[in-house]
Amino acid sequence: AADHTMYHAKHAGRNNVCFYGDILHLKALGREHVALQSRLSAAIRCERLSVFYQPVVSARDGGVIAVEALARWQDEHNGWISPDLFVPMAEKVGLIQELSDLVMQQAFPQLRAWRDAGLTQKLMLNISRSQLFSPVFVSRLVERLAAHRLRPHDVIVEITESAALNDYARQLKHLRQLASAGFQIAIDDFGTGYSSLAQVNEMRAQWLKVDVSFTQKLHTEAGRRVMQAIVQFGQGLGLGLVVEGVESLDAARYLQGLGVEYLQGFHFSEPVPAGVAELWMRLGLANKV
Ligand code: C2E
Ligand code: MG
Ligand code: MG
Ligand code: MG
Repeated sequence: AADHTMYHAKHAGRNNVCFYGDILHLKALGREHVALQSRLSAAIRCERLSVFYQPVVSARDGGVIAVEALARWQDEHNGWISPDLFVPMAEKVGLIQELSDLVMQQAFPQLRAWRDAGLTQKLMLNISRSQLFSPVFVSRLVERLAAHRLRPHDVIVEITESAALNDYARQLKHLRQLASAGFQIAIDDFGTGYSSLAQVNEMRAQWLKVDVSFTQKLHTEAGRRVMQAIVQFGQGLGLGLVVEGVESLDAARYLQGLGVEYLQGFHFSEPVPAGVAELWMRLGLANKV
């Protein structure tokens, strides 16, 4: 019993009582890390993760053309933990599919409601490579969507570029299955990985999401030249281009001038709860472009 801590969740989903996993075999990793991992496992099992939404905005008129679903976790001891930390952690402890299920469980009915209200039509969904490689992933995703009368076409699946080099052939196979099922594919954090021009084509991506790090260098001449090259690359391949990390009106205007169609970033809105995202959909963000 010493190895398990019982946790009574007030709003536990399927079970009233959730257990922290056995933490003994993870001791080598260091106390803090292990404690956090156990709490993450409990949070996932007890369905205590939430989803925030960040608008993707048309550079032309500030309309919200899609929202990106981003997982959120508030740990009772450490407060909000970045998904850059807990998503890899969930992968490591083998709970990434469960985490993703939680995100879909919240985001799909939400998208259904928004579509019924004539609001945002598309959801951008982050998935990790281990999920992509699961043989049942595509069929499960299609099934889950169908339960909410949604189609693959309503979802843009984001896969990070840094994942693009290892297991490339295997990844291609799975991306093609996704594309054949009707999903649109976006290469996330574009520019941080190693995709060649040919590979971007092969991956059947329809969207490139330009990484925040490039947007943050627009104040330098070199940074602007790199961004121009990326934009030409995307436009040349006929891909939809979303530039992430737009934090100022200056950046928005500059990107608009380059012919970038879609923008995302704190200048428009941080990732926010569904209710706030809905407000932006209704009002638009025309005053921000
Ligand atoms: P991402 O998919 O590239 O998401 C964009 C990240 O940039 C988000 O961080 C967002 O909050 C942040 N961001 C947005 N606008 C700006 C801006 O103007 N400036 C700056 N500096 N940052 C901005 P977040 O929410 O912390 O997520 C981090 C990463 O965690 C995501 O990167 C994504 O790779 C991963 N992630 C989040 N939710 C999920 C999920 O449900 N499943 C999977 N597999 N990964 C997820
Ligand atoms: Mg993303
Ligand atoms: Mg990104
Ligand atoms: Mg990222």
